[in-house]
Amino acid sequence: MNENSTPEAIRSNPQLNAMRTKICRIGALMYERHLTDAAGGNVSARVGDYVCISPRYAGSKYQWNIQPEQVLVVDMDLNILDGTGEISRESKVHFKLYREFGEHGSSVIHAHARNALVFAAAAQPIPPVLEATQKFGTVPCVEFAPAHGSDLAEHVAGAIRGNEARIRKQAMAVLAPWHGLFVMGKDIDATYDAVERVDENAYILLMAKLLDNNDLLAGPRQGLVDALKRYEH
Ligand SMILES: [Zn+2]
Repeated sequence: MNENSTPEAIRSNPQLNAMRTKICRIGALMYERHLTDAAGGNVSARVGDYVCISPRYAGSKYQWNIQPEQVLVVDMDLNILDGTGEISRESKVHFKLYREFGEHGSSVIHAHARNALVFAAAAQPIPPVLEATQKFGTVPCVEFAPAHGSDLAEHVAGAIRGNEARIRKQAMAVLAPWHGLFVMGKDIDATYDAVERVDENAYILLMAKLLDNNDLLAGPRQGLVDALKRYEH
């Protein structure tokens, strides 16, 4: 441990403090907006030689109401330098992505996003259907691997390989079947934005199915017009 990585030095580093606060805010926002759930998800960002990452149980025990001092500051060898709590078991994916794609992006978000989860449960990719999601291409759904093993990290990294330019532009998203989304972006704002856009895109795809039906509201709508007319006289 060098003199910059003592708990005192970590706690007086303004960039780390700002990022730990930001991670709390992003986690709370994701939970509030159904972009993740109490069962899981995690938010991380690299600051210099360190990674700030939300702790294990952020959802299940804290309902994403976590404080900056709970956000872990971890070195690339996964030593916890500061922060209360344990490291999430899903953090393996985050560190794999930082090791392999760290020159392209500095933030990773794993999210159990409600609409994207429908695609995850169906093990189907998410094609872009909005101008705002074209840059992500079709979000691939990778081969299954249990949530806490190293195979999942390998599958997610495998889907990102060759798509590094998407991270540099904004972000690259990958679906883990029966599980959720993994997104790596150029910075934490871009990554959060991508999570929201991909989930919104998934919502649009699901809602668009309703347009396949005949106009179910045509009768009631005419009824309203007729009723209003009767009251005009
Ligand atoms: Zn998860």
